[in-house]
Amino acid sequence: MTKGVGGLLLLGEVALAWGFWAHRRINRLAVFALPETLFAFYRPYVEYLTRAATKPDERRGLFPEEAPRHYIDLDQYPAEVPHTWAEAVAQLGEDSLQQHGLLPWHLEKVFWELVEAFRQRATPRILKLSAEIGHYLGDAHVPLHTTANYNGQLTGQHGIHALWESFLPEQYGESYDYWVGSARLWRAPRDSFWHIINESHRLVPLVLEAEREATQRVGEGRKFTYRPRGQQTVRTYSEAFLAAYHAQLGGMVEQCLRQAIYRLACVWYSAWHKAGQPPLPTDLSPVEEEEIPSDSLWTDPRCGVSMGCLGPFTPRDYLTAQPYPAIPTIPGLQSIPRRSLLYEPKRLRRQPRRSATHSTYPIALL
Ligand SMILES: [Zn+2]
Repeated sequence: MTKGVGGLLLLGEVALAWGFWAHRRINRLAVFALPETLFAFYRPYVEYLTRAATKPDERRGLFPEEAPRHYIDLDQYPAEVPHTWAEAVAQLGEDSLQQHGLLPWHLEKVFWELVEAFRQRATPRILKLSAEIGHYLGDAHVPLHTTANYNGQLTGQHGIHALWESFLPEQYGESYDYWVGSARLWRAPRDSFWHIINESHRLVPLVLEAEREATQRVGEGRKFTYRPRGQQTVRTYSEAFLAAYHAQLGGMVEQCLRQAIYRLACVWYSAWHKAGQPPLPTDLSPVEEEEIPSDSLWTDPRCGVSMGCLGPFTPRDYLTAQPYPAIPTIPGLQSIPRRSLLYEPKRLRRQPRRSATHSTYPIALL
């Protein structure tokens, strides 16, 4: 099932490339959060990993089975969703799963494919699967990828999907702090994927409520503006509204991006570890790029830019009204000593916080 994003014709919804910013950033920066052994392997392919981050979205117009892999409507399932695929099919039926989304199960599937690729030391396949799991993991960090109300269509907030995952990061993402430390080993990847999904889902009410409050603060009349685009004039969110919504979210988008970057490095590292930590080829194997016809590109901004939301998130504006429960520790985690980054691009250097309202949240050691 391919979901369409109805509602306003906004600038971000007509620009294909725009929505891909964060997926590419997640894949790219995850490389720099890897332990040194893996960093040396991944670093030469950072451009490929960046480009390929959006391939799963680009395929959505070609293959109908692709779309449900990008989301899960958790609110359409019973409170206790079976975490294993076999149990989920037995209890809920495959039709229902296909209808409401496969994201956590697909993450696990791709993870084990990546483990197998590491076992075989098949560089092109390792890289392809690494890029793809980066995409799906990014999607898992977006609260609106975990609800049937994915574009605010059930609450009169049409367009909120692209607003949250495209407009905000594109407007503010260059100033975020991307220092996330070094990846850790996940002993139980299935638990971790579900942990991420549940965390993201818990943020959905905040995503919606903050939009309502920002709208109220700015006023309906100042929420949108018009900009020329080629021969057309398109309606888009005003800077005043973007600033209000971003502030209302209290650092959520930045935190989600940071978590996705850090956890993607954990996924790559854990897959390699579960494959027995094989020595990796040091020659630069060519990577075959997936050819996708340009007329098949899927322009729905739902997944255009995907970040995630998890972690010990306590948005300032909601601290007293709605405190967040502590993140439970995943049993069996192995602590890996923090190291300094082998290669530190300029954008990863710590930057002074921009304002008193812009706080740093710790990265959850998932
Ligand atoms: Zn996606």
